[in-house]
Amino acid sequence: KATVMVVDKTGTITKGKPEVTSVTSFSDLDETEILSILSTLESKSEHPIAHAIQTYAKEKDIQTKSISDFSIIEGVGLRGSIDGVTFTAGNTRVLKGMSEDFDVATVEQEASKGNTPVILRNETQVIGVVYVADKIKEQAIQSVEKLHLLGKKVMMLTGDMQGTGEYIAQKVGIDTVIAQVMPEDKLRVIKDLQTQGEIVAMAGDGVNDAPALAQANVGIAMGSGTDVAIESAGMTLLAGDIGKLPEAVKLSRITMQ
Ligand code: ADP
Ligand code: MG
Repeated sequence: KATVMVVDKTGTITKGKPEVTSVTSFSDLDETEILSILSTLESKSEHPIAHAIQTYAKEKDIQTKSISDFSIIEGVGLRGSIDGVTFTAGNTRVLKGMSEDFDVATVEQEASKGNTPVILRNETQVIGVVYVADKIKEQAIQSVEKLHLLGKKVMMLTGDMQGTGEYIAQKVGIDTVIAQVMPEDKLRVIKDLQTQGEIVAMAGDGVNDAPALAQANVGIAMGSGTDVAIESAGMTLLAGDIGKLPEAVKLSRITMQ
């Protein structure tokens, strides 16, 4: 009966294994130093982006430093003190409250090519930006096509930037993107759709998807996803095979018949 299929981006439509695509300096620090600071921060995080940066730094034999006062900024990134300086890294939200201007246009341009920026700043200025990109799952395009044929609207929900979201959505044929969604807002988006009279099926894999999966009329987890997503969902796609999404709709129809 679902009228709309809401899908998370990272780990659901994309493989969830991003890789570093480029490093740009915006200060007198070189690439090695930027990666050293950033991988030190990311060594404390379990986000797929953190994994990408740590792997890249290891490949380049870059040493990490010692860190204190570490904290995760939900839906934004992370922060910590290295050699007495407080560094913050994450999406464009980290730019808030910075004394020196930073031209966000270059970052937005890269985002619209599918690259997610990880902006590294100190107390006053942006030091550098590391871009990561994630590959689309092979079955995603066909899956969306089949869902449309089955009469479902398909909508993508992501914590990533609008440009990156739209780039991926356009590649897989999804027409609606809701981007820069904070974890608590994923739940609100589902509730709003239900208020508008939609019957919502939601597919996701992350800890941040779990409340939305529980709220949806049908929650669908990726078998490759987090335990809490699987626990919160009514259905799990083995091995995170997004190609099974239309099969799940067909199987449900046959079961009801
Ligand atoms: P998503 O499913 O999009 O990753 P999150 O709420 O986990 O949703 O994160 C939202 C955004 O915050 C990410 O798209 C990324 O830009 C930024 N972010 C989160 N964690 C990190 C991290 N460890 N390093 C860099 N950026 C991060
Ligand atoms: Mg995800």
